[in-house]
Amino acid sequence: MLIFVVLIGIAGCERGPRDHQQTLLVFGTLLDVKAYTDNPVEFDTAVKGLERTFQDMHREWHAWKGDGELVRLNRAIGRGDAITVSPELVELLLRAKQYAEQSGHLFNPAIGGLIAEWGFHSDEPPGGPPPDGNRIASLIEAAPSMAQLTFEQNRILSSNRAVALDLGAFAKGYALNMAIRQLKRSGIAHAIVNAGGDLCVSGRHGDRPWTIGIRHPLAEGVIASVKVSDGECVLTSGNYERYREYEGIRYAHILDPRTGYPVEHVASATVISMDGGLADAAATALSVAGPGQWENIAVQMGINEVMLVDENGDVHLSPSMRDRIEFQQHIDRVIVSPRLNAGS
Ligand code: AMP
Ligand code: MG
Repeated sequence: MLIFVVLIGIAGCERGPRDHQQTLLVFGTLLDVKAYTDNPVEFDTAVKGLERTFQDMHREWHAWKGDGELVRLNRAIGRGDAITVSPELVELLLRAKQYAEQSGHLFNPAIGGLIAEWGFHSDEPPGGPPPDGNRIASLIEAAPSMAQLTFEQNRILSSNRAVALDLGAFAKGYALNMAIRQLKRSGIAHAIVNAGGDLCVSGRHGDRPWTIGIRHPLAEGVIASVKVSDGECVLTSGNYERYREYEGIRYAHILDPRTGYPVEHVASATVISMDGGLADAAATALSVAGPGQWENIAVQMGINEVMLVDENGDVHLSPSMRDRIEFQQHIDRVIVSPRLNAGS
């Protein structure tokens, strides 16, 4: 009888919750799905479901490849036609439009034409000289904006044919948020979904919150760690992630929609929010805004938790971000914004 009890005890231990991890290749990137669960079979099924969802999103929301909904919408806009799309795409675009307006159009997913001109509509890093200045000037003059889109239920029309939608700055955060919700519906309540350092979490890691590291944009390793609670997303926009290099000059993939040229003064912008799409859009907008303007844009977008690393390695923090991150490397200069209130 005693042996029986001990055996059950051991088996019970083995069945307790622990980490399970799977990596998917989706959205052209590796998606790490990690769960703290006692049900590996349920986790397996949930991850398979997630893989299907991400494949669908990749097909339908790709800006330039294939024949998905976004490609068809862009073609219709180019012809000056209205087109009916799925409610899912309408929802995504309405959110993108809202965040574009809140960011003063520094996050501008209508600038697909400019992004293509710079060569970032390609799976490979582009090479060669930067685009011709006149070409950029004419794309800027065409002034594509999300404000030019009108929605009549699921029918979309653009008053400007130069609008070319590219959701590269927004869809990842939106999708990570959806992924966490889908995992929850499949019974996985404690998880991290992580696409190259951009992530959303649910629940906890046992009796502790999940703790994650934010990559240093200018040096090796992690710049800071942060405890992340149920439903939060951490999104980073980095100039180092993709760039075009020509004659020793790097042209980053984040463009300033006001000038048509790549952003220069920010190495990375990290935003924490419960809304992954908002965090993604804001991280891009704050990269464009730069050290001089980021606080205004954060206020306009309703973002409280920001870390910006500028080109010199100086770190700019909102007070609420200062209160929760732990630096993992020495930072020469940390500037906490006097214009944003802690916990505001
Ligand atoms: P992220 O890493 O979220 O900042 O997204 C960068 C990607 O978004 C780029 O590779 C472009 O496809 C696109 N993009 C670049 N600049 C902007 C911008 N100012 N607004 C919206 N999308 C942009
Ligand atoms: Mg972004």
